[in-house]
Amino acid sequence: MGKLICIECHKEFPLEEKIWRCPCGGLLDIELQPIFPIDKIKQRKPNLWRYREAIPVLNQENIVSFDEGFTPLIPVGFQGKSVFLKQDHLFPTGSYKDRGASILISKVKELRIKKVVEDSSGNAGCAIAAYCAKAKIKCEIFVPEDTAAGKLAQIQWYGAKLRRIPGSREDTARAVRKAAEKDYYASHCWNPFFFQGTKTFAFEVCEQLGWRPPDSIIVPVGNGTLLLGAYLGFNELLNTGIIQKVPRIIGVQAANCAPLYQSFRKDLEEIPKIDKKETVAEGIAIAEPIRGKQILEAVKRSKGELIAVSELEIKNSLRTLCQKGFYVEPTSAATIAGLSKYLPGSNSDEVIVSVLTGHGLKTTEKMLKIL
Ligand SMILES: *Cc1c(COP(=O)(O)O)cnc(C)c1O
Ligand SMILES: [Zn+2]
Repeated sequence: MGKLICIECHKEFPLEEKIWRCPCGGLLDIELQPIFPIDKIKQRKPNLWRYREAIPVLNQENIVSFDEGFTPLIPVGFQGKSVFLKQDHLFPTGSYKDRGASILISKVKELRIKKVVEDSSGNAGCAIAAYCAKAKIKCEIFVPEDTAAGKLAQIQWYGAKLRRIPGSREDTARAVRKAAEKDYYASHCWNPFFFQGTKTFAFEVCEQLGWRPPDSIIVPVGNGTLLLGAYLGFNELLNTGIIQKVPRIIGVQAANCAPLYQSFRKDLEEIPKIDKKETVAEGIAIAEPIRGKQILEAVKRSKGELIAVSELEIKNSLRTLCQKGFYVEPTSAATIAGLSKYLPGSNSDEVIVSVLTGHGLKTTEKMLKIL
């Protein structure tokens, strides 16, 4: 079922190869022939493994799962319009990263890998640590020194080895890549199996809308794990004839760290080197997104766009969300700030889906400070 393909040299590898990138250094993608047996899917438990014929884990015994996914999609009013919000902050570890972690760590188990390394600004580390705990796989999580205390505690309580790296998020990425020369890199950015999990976002949204795609989706983007996963998922539904079009994909960045937005607006070929400033949206503060070119291509092909939001807009959206009863972390509020900017130019009958990505209880210090 399927194969790994290098996006640089186009070399192909079997899915059972224990590699996370091509020997040439290129990023790997996965090509599959997914199947969507809708009548069977409807009868299964409401979790993301209901789409198992589209997920490249061969043996069901290897599935590492907390019955996660199929999160509620509910209509919420913004500026007099109704928007569907997918509540992905309600995952077992408090963020949508569990989508990717469940599939990736299941594959790690299937490949009989005993130890993994990962780096993260927090939430991906929490997710990988939790699924490794369940699968009894050793893991070492690299994080920047200034990572939120709630996320640090969570990673350690799951029993992962925590490595706090001085300097920037990019310094942490460099540190883990050294460790990844020896141990398998369960990266949410490099490892293509992670995107096989985040693509279930698209499947769930379509099923919850009666197997119809929305007109547009508004998602956060740093490394693009949700954006690219959603794009992949909608395309798989399109290629199998389940849906007739891919929604417009609108990516939201914090203006203080917006390399993709700048590339898009200035119509550049490359992702520019940016002068990164601090942002309350810690989860999307990525200055050097390694899949940047893929992200721009996905946005352009879907006729979408990139939006940047200021710190003030993020904080205002956080207030709006919490006053509607959604307690989310500031990164999630950035998405909704983007939604607020997008809505005035949208059509009156446009079906719009956005997402809440991370739970507010993870970032209590920051929530108190902003308050
Ligand atoms: C990871 C994360 C994002 C964005 O993910 P990218 O893969 O960097 O695009 C958004 N919100 C939260 C809460 C996250 O943890
Ligand atoms: Zn290659």
